[in-house]
Amino acid sequence: MKKLLIFCFGIFLSVTLQAQDIYIQAGKIIDTKNGKVLTNKTIIVSGEKIRSIENGFLSPEKDGDTLIDMKDKTLLPGLIDLHVHLESETNPGKYLERYVNNEADNAFNAVGFAKTTLMAGFTTVRELGGSGVNISLRDAINKGRIDGPRIFTVGKSIASTGGHADPTSGMNQKLMEDPGPKEGVVNNIDDARKAVRQRYKNGADLIKITATGGVLSVAKSSSNPQFSEEEIRAIVETAKDYDFHVAAHAHGDEGMQRAIRAGVKTIEHGTKMSDETMELMKKHDAYLVPTITAGKEVTEKAEVEGYYPEVVVPKAREIGPQIQDMFARAYKKGVPIAFGTDAGVFKHGENAREFVYMTEAGMPAMEAIQSATITNARLLNMQDKIGQLQEGFLADIIAVDEDPIENIQSLQNVKFVMKEGKIYRK
Ligand SMILES: [Zn+2]
Repeated sequence: MKKLLIFCFGIFLSVTLQAQDIYIQAGKIIDTKNGKVLTNKTIIVSGEKIRSIENGFLSPEKDGDTLIDMKDKTLLPGLIDLHVHLESETNPGKYLERYVNNEADNAFNAVGFAKTTLMAGFTTVRELGGSGVNISLRDAINKGRIDGPRIFTVGKSIASTGGHADPTSGMNQKLMEDPGPKEGVVNNIDDARKAVRQRYKNGADLIKITATGGVLSVAKSSSNPQFSEEEIRAIVETAKDYDFHVAAHAHGDEGMQRAIRAGVKTIEHGTKMSDETMELMKKHDAYLVPTITAGKEVTEKAEVEGYYPEVVVPKAREIGPQIQDMFARAYKKGVPIAFGTDAGVFKHGENAREFVYMTEAGMPAMEAIQSATITNARLLNMQDKIGQLQEGFLADIIAVDEDPIENIQSLQNVKFVMKEGKIYRK
């Protein structure tokens, strides 16, 4: 009897110790590292990682393994968007939300937007600012409580008084308080340092500043500089102590130059970037995150009566149409390009529109895909884990019907999503 028990236990142990693997037979694979399309491969996923990639179509060898036949699909690493806002989404009533929404409302909204983003094939995002509940969103996703992309977040953006991310800009003066570093508003070097440290305390992964005015804030200028260079430098230097990189929202050229000279890693939007600033970007190895989709969206919505407040409409008309042309110039000049969309300014889940606009502006499809995979992985310091379909990498895998190198629009219709070995869409 005892022997039998030990025998049974032995079988039980050997069965449970042998992980169940997933065999994915792939018609095509985008090799983002070498910029090639590979054909007829089998990706073997074991647990959360890619165990190996084999030539030809292999079938499972042991009981419990699964086979997924995607011989008619093209597989890519999960996409990475460096600029999203998961707590909200554009709608004509959006400007009322900050008066009526509690943080819990933002949080519940974010749950849906996060899931939509993941289902669209974006398995990793950089969250560039909301009220800050996005930090709890990240944690809930990491714990597996809700479905969403892997998130690297700034929590709340840092602005100066009246600036693009001052949470009380545009309010009735009785409601306008005088927010400080804790709320992400700074006006001198000490406050700048404190705001960064506060973000660390809150659990952020990186820092975002609004270096110039913006389109959707209720304020006059879309483009004026809103920090001194010394303030930005204090932010960048303090951020380094915490291993944070700094992302800078910027439409105007002067604010952009200050930010680049002070050492920010990415320029978001970059709308009015001069040739001189493009050279500065190259010199400082700063990356442009173009967000062309946001430009297209605000251009369109500016013509819908009452969609935006009156003060926003001329800014949307001015800035929106310039972004794609600027991107075309920047690409030609060899400015480092990362992939980011500003999702939330348009509907979550439409992030892949950006690929269409990038290729329209002259970037080859493979390079656009590389920007959203290997380049972005590197900027997040995740280059050994994501952005490639490679042995030992996390199993973030998506599939589309048509080879996106031949038809980039296929990325807007993702058919299969796996994140860390777990299938979310099939
Ligand atoms: Zn944004």
